[in-house]
Amino acid sequence: MDQTDAANVLKDVSSELLTCMQCGTCSGSCPSGRYTSMVTRKIVRMARVNKRVLKDINLWMCTTCYTCQERCPRQIKITDAILAIRTITVHDGCILPEHRRVSQLVLQYGHAVPINDAVKQKRKKLGMEALPETVHKYPDALLDVQTILKSCKFDELVAEGQEE
Ligand code: SF4
Ligand code: SF4
Repeated sequence: MDQTDAANVLKDVSSELLTCMQCGTCSGSCPSGRYTSMVTRKIVRMARVNKRVLKDINLWMCTTCYTCQERCPRQIKITDAILAIRTITVHDGCILPEHRRVSQLVLQYGHAVPINDAVKQKRKKLGMEALPETVHKYPDALLDVQTILKSCKFDELVAEGQEE
């Protein structure tokens, strides 16, 4: 995504959010907001008026549960907007180190949480095969996953040293 594309996405998102009346239903419904500094209503307000939202760490506190979007009296697609803004920020090189690490695990192992020996043992104790029916068991499929991720340049996006 180049700067023009990013600007256009942000503009589209901003116009979508213009009908917000700042009622706070979104923040009051947000499960993440109970445990983090995220205030959905503020994210919406900020996204309407300036680009600072792109640097707001609270963007990453959203679990994309869609509760706010389901309850917004103005039927604003809040979660979709947050996801669109995140896409811009990632292409701008802004990504939390934890997310970068998890993304690299997906790239390397095909899983955000790869299996380990302890889990393999537990599976066996439960009468299951040590490896689940995923790329862990089928390395050829892992190569396919990696090919797909590389073809869309996901590997470059989450590589170390891409921070701004
Ligand atoms: S629920 Fe909808 S209208 Fe109310 S503050 Fe949130 S985005 Fe705005
Ligand atoms: S989608 Fe995100 S912002 Fe909306 S309620 Fe869920 S966690 Fe909160």
